[in-house]
Amino acid sequence: MKRNLKLPALKQYEEKIYSCMRCGFCRSTCPILLKRDMEETFSPRGRILLIRGLMSNELDPSTRLVEKIYSCTTCRHCYSTCPPRLEIDRIVEATRNQLVKLGVAPPKAHRAITSKIESENNPFGEPKNARARWLESEESVLPEKAEVLYWAGCMASYRTQATARATVRILKHAGVNFTILGKEEGCCGSFLLRTGQRDVVENKYAKVNVAKIADRGAKTVVTACAGCFRTFHDEYPEMLGTLPFEVLHVSQYLEGLVKARRIGFSKELTMKVTYHDPCHLGRHLSIYEPPRNVMNAIPGIVFSEMVKSHEESRCCGAGGGFRSAFPELSVSVAMDRLKLDVLPTSVDAVVTACPFCVKNFEDAVKRGGMRLQVLDLPELVWKAMGIDRSLPSVA
Ligand code: SF4
Ligand code: SF4
Repeated sequence: MKRNLKLPALKQYEEKIYSCMRCGFCRSTCPILLKRDMEETFSPRGRILLIRGLMSNELDPSTRLVEKIYSCTTCRHCYSTCPPRLEIDRIVEATRNQLVKLGVAPPKAHRAITSKIESENNPFGEPKNARARWLESEESVLPEKAEVLYWAGCMASYRTQATARATVRILKHAGVNFTILGKEEGCCGSFLLRTGQRDVVENKYAKVNVAKIADRGAKTVVTACAGCFRTFHDEYPEMLGTLPFEVLHVSQYLEGLVKARRIGFSKELTMKVTYHDPCHLGRHLSIYEPPRNVMNAIPGIVFSEMVKSHEESRCCGAGGGFRSAFPELSVSVAMDRLKLDVLPTSVDAVVTACPFCVKNFEDAVKRGGMRLQVLDLPELVWKAMGIDRSLPSVA
């Protein structure tokens, strides 16, 4: 028996959804379609047709259909080739939100991650008290209040800690008056937003996180992660209005420090590198040049641009809650990016500006036995500053 499962909140996208002319130009961009034997319902166009079916009540939100709606990394690559400019990533997120409201989503794997966020305030289920353990090796006593607050985020706090340690070292050497929230930092809610659980972010995470940061007197928040950046920069203001601080991604902040000559590069790095644009920084927020400007200021670096870069950059497979729920497939998408685009540039290292991309690429390098370094931008900058201190792993 058919249930009444209208998706009313998709009204705002209705005109767009019905403007899909089924040209299929989007098919060539979707990283998931490639992994699903080109099955149409895993394509951007297919997802739009499924959503139309849900809206018209011709389709039931079966477990299999819901899984297809959640098999999108929200990379926004399809938007770049779509003639009527359908924001499929936004439409997919709005659909997920409706499916959550109807009680048929998120899927089981995503629900497990949601529980971990609820109990430990991070998607890995790591103890919340261990969140700032990465700072212990730095022998840093940071002030309670400061002008700048560094938001490490869940991935750099628990998994890619070299990013967080490198950033803190750079800020210290640049003489920045900064602090971190430490154990008080929690999930920004990016995973919940991408998986359709917007209401809980609005009512809980956004307010709490903004209040904690405001209490520290910060005028500027610097995020390590592209996902945290989008959440703070775009979504918190949509929910709460203007924030009491500006929000910068670490690549923008580092660009400012380089331009102001507050950090210098004493070491010539004889390395050939390329840069991977994180989807949530690039296509979602058009931040393409700051990381490149930082890299190009480093003496000795030979920068090689990939054919697929900027708006055309292929997704690493980690976003949209995809890595959390489909880890194997997600790493396989990262392998595609490395094999098809990075390795042909014959670089020593692929640099990116998001700990999620770093983690997915590191796993792909391991799985594929590739000879390639993966570096987050702050790690490269710290190396080039030539200060004799390695970045030990604490995890
Ligand atoms: S946003 Fe990315 S993953 Fe989602 S349908 Fe478009 S191309 Fe595919
Ligand atoms: S490119 Fe746009 S209009 Fe063409 S099939 Fe894909 S979603 Fe529809």
